[in-house]
Order: sequence, then C-alpha cells, then structure tokens
Amino acid sequence: MRTLFRNAQFWSAGEEIFDAILVENDLIVATGEIALHASHDKSIDLNGAFVMPAFLDGHAHPIFAGREAAGPKINGLDTVELILNAVGKFAQENPDTPWIIGGAYEAAIIDGGNFDSHWLDSVVSDRPVVLHAVDHHTIWVNSKALEIAGITEHTQDPIGGSIARRIDAKPKGTLREPSAMALILDFAPVDTIASDVEAIKRACASYLRAGVTAATDSWVEKDMAKAYLAAAKSGDLSIAMNLSFLANPSSWSEKVDEFIALRQEFESLPDPDLVKANSIKFLADGALSAGTAALMEPYLDDPNSTGIKIWDDDELLDALSVFDMHKFQVHIHAIGDAAVKQALDAIQAMMRINPNWDRRPVIVHTQLICDDDLIRFRQLGVVANIQPLWCYLDPMNKELILPRLGVTRNDLQYRLRTLIDSGARIAFGSDWPVTSEIPLLALSVPVNRLAPGSTNSPGWSLEQAITMNESLTFYTKNVAYQMFRNNERGLLAAGYKADFLVLEKNLLEIDPSEVSTVTIKEIYQSGVKTL
Ligand SMILES: [Zn+2]
Repeated sequence: MRTLFRNAQFWSAGEEIFDAILVENDLIVATGEIALHASHDKSIDLNGAFVMPAFLDGHAHPIFAGREAAGPKINGLDTVELILNAVGKFAQENPDTPWIIGGAYEAAIIDGGNFDSHWLDSVVSDRPVVLHAVDHHTIWVNSKALEIAGITEHTQDPIGGSIARRIDAKPKGTLREPSAMALILDFAPVDTIASDVEAIKRACASYLRAGVTAATDSWVEKDMAKAYLAAAKSGDLSIAMNLSFLANPSSWSEKVDEFIALRQEFESLPDPDLVKANSIKFLADGALSAGTAALMEPYLDDPNSTGIKIWDDDELLDALSVFDMHKFQVHIHAIGDAAVKQALDAIQAMMRINPNWDRRPVIVHTQLICDDDLIRFRQLGVVANIQPLWCYLDPMNKELILPRLGVTRNDLQYRLRTLIDSGARIAFGSDWPVTSEIPLLALSVPVNRLAPGSTNSPGWSLEQAITMNESLTFYTKNVAYQMFRNNERGLLAAGYKADFLVLEKNLLEIDPSEVSTVTIKEIYQSGVKTL
C-alpha cells in the first residue's frame, strides 16, 4: 500500500520546504517531485497544512511522570488553595488509595518554599499525602505522613538532606533532597513492575498526544528496566524508547554486568529498535534552585559554598571509562559550570584512554558553562542536551536562583547562541515531569526567551536567542542523532519512519508567541494515523 500525502508544506531539518511525501507501510519512500511522480494506491490532500517529523525527547523521566499522573494533578496551580482543592477532590474520588502521592507543585508560589503539613491536613488527615515539587528534590507532606515515618522534633537532618522546622523544631512538612525524602517515601507502597507498566502506558499516551514518538528515559534502575521489557512484550510500550541506566558513586562497578545483561534482553526483543538500552546516566551535581549545583565561584547567599560535586574526579573517570569500554553512551547531568567542566574533563580523559568509536557523549542541562569550555563541546563531540522550556526568566530563576547567583551569572544561563556559533550540537529534552512533555509549548521559549505565549516584555538575555528553524531541528534531527536513531527518525526523508505531524499553521511563518497555541490536526506513527 503506497499513500501519497500532498498539497502541504513539508518541513525537514536542513531541507527546503517540499510539497509531497510517499509512504509505503511504515516508511517514507520518496519526497517532493519524486514522490509526486511515483505510482501510488491512495492520495491524501492535506489542504496546505504544515507537516513536520514527529518530535523526539532527548531527556525525560517517563516512568516518574506516569507514576505521578496516577495521583492528583497539581502542575501549574499558582495558589496553595488551588492545590488543596485538587488534593481534596482526588482524595474524595479515590477513597481506597492508601497513600496519596502527586506532583508537581511550584515551590516559588510561597516565600521560602516551606509548605506546611497543616494545610494538607485541612483536606486529608486520614491518610498520608506526599506532593513532589517541580524540582523533584523536595516533597511536601501532611501530618499523617510525618507520623507514619516517625519524624519529630528529635529527628536529625539526614546527611545531604534537610527537614524544614517550625520555631519549636517540630517538622513543618517540607523535606529536601533524596536522603530526607526517603525518610517518608521508604514507608510508601513500593512501585511494582505491574504498576510501572501502567505508568509507561500513561506516559506513552501523553507523549503521543503531544506528537512525540520516541523518548529517552534518563533514570532507569533494574526494576524499571524490567517494566519496560514487560511493556515492550505486551505491546503497552507504544513509542520508541532509549533507556539510560543510573550509575552512582561507590555502587556503579557492581552494576556493570547487570546493565550489560539488561541491554541484551532488549536487543533480543522481536523489534530490537523499539528500546535501545545503551546509555548510562551520571549525576555530576544537584540544582541551582537548591544551591547544590557545582559552581566555580561561591553562591552569593552562602559564600562558603560552591555547591556539591557528587563524584570525585578519579571515580567519575573510572566509571565513564568502564562503561564506554562496553560501548555504552554516557549521559551526564551537569548544571553548574564546575560540574560541566568536570564532565568535559572526564569525557576528554576517557577518550584518551579508550579506543575511538562513535560514542556521542551527552551532557544534559549545561545551564552555566565557563567561557573556555564552550568550544570543548564541538572539540569532544559532546551533545549539549538543553531543556527549551527553561530558557526564560521563570519564577524559579527569579525567586530562587537569581538571589543565589547574582544578576551577571544568572543572565549567563542557557547560552544556546554561543554554543551554536562554537559548532556545538544541541539536542532538546523536556525533563518531564520536571517540566511539560509538550514540545509545542517549549519551541518558542529559546527563540524569544519568554514564557510560552508571552509577548509583553523583552526576552531574557536575548543575545542567546535562536531561530524557530533551529528550535525545530533541535527537537527532531539532533535528538535522533543523540539517540543513535538518525538513520530512522527525526527527518522526512526516504527510508525514514513515517512518523509525522500535520499542523494547522506553518510554525516558521507565525509569531513565535503563537506557536504554543497551534493545534496538531493529525499524527501519523509508522504510517498509521493515531490522531
Ligand atoms: Zn532529568
């Protein structure tokens, strides 16, 4: 069955707009004039629509997002009252859910971000409630959760974490960083493979609605990998996925064989391209909003602190070298300039030690980069994976980061233009559920450096703005390269998957502020219309 799609403006990174594609089964077999003149069984008139390749997400946490979606939805609510209403309503509708776990609330909506357990008690007091903040380094809980966990005024702050206190030292209800969050979450019902398969289904459904047909899960532990395997076998994994296994200091060396064995299991699935389990995730530092990103110069609000480096240099190099030797791609979270430098140094040293191969190392977030490190992305072939939806002066930047960095350093975040000019390859990722998985919401942000849909003020550090054409390229072609899917996805070209979106407007011709309101009229996945 050969179908001609015609009378549309087809966009594919690096090409002039063309007016037709020919699809046979799940693949594009010809484009432009060649497609128009080839024989076909069926012809579809797209009435002048704008057609582009489906989006690809180069950094996200779909299982976490799917788990979170099982609880109350509080994303984007900008008052405590609205959040409490949503939690109360969820509790009423789900009387048998033993723990109410949801996310993600914007911590900047109250001064200091210390949310009170008593506020949650006013809507749910019979069961524990745990809400994740958008940074996913913080939780807000009710009194029942504190009681079950046995947290009182006598509980010490765990190493690396903190418990917000009232004047009398009793816990207030906000806990920060994984060690403190674990004091509560260790008592919550554990995620099972079956519940994670449900989470994967929910995540895939959200992605497909947003026009994303391949994504990266950049925090995968063994049981999560088992859930992906189960979902792949049962047909519940409805988009392609690249998995990045989490390596931690001190325990990574025990995981090497496990990750190799898991990779083999994915390779032996009937469709070996459905899941690529070929990447290892390293966390080099924390987050600027929490004062845990690793900086070259101290934080303004704490002159004794330059943040936290999670790995020491030697161990990071050892771990990178071992995984690289086993042909795993490395995917390093680095936010502060000292963490980015540490990651680049380690990658450079690893490349000297190990034989050459097509390794495509990734540094994700790269919010602050030392001037002399900018060129190293191109020199070392490192993909800078950046979150487009973060590239404006959002409440977190304004309220939590700016006071810690000062104006000059704060304004140097997300230097996309400088990176492009230096020859670096940028790919986009949503970091969902930290921020939205919807690419159409994010595309304009690095272009006008304003919130999605905003028109009313000059953008933030506009000298770092990129074009809409670049933004589209970074969310399609360049992610395909990062995901080792550049012969398969990210372009509308002969031999590529027939995964494409039909949009009501040409994204390159409208004002960037309108892009977030454009509707996807149709979505094709492997040549089949899914919307
Ligand atoms: Zn992430």
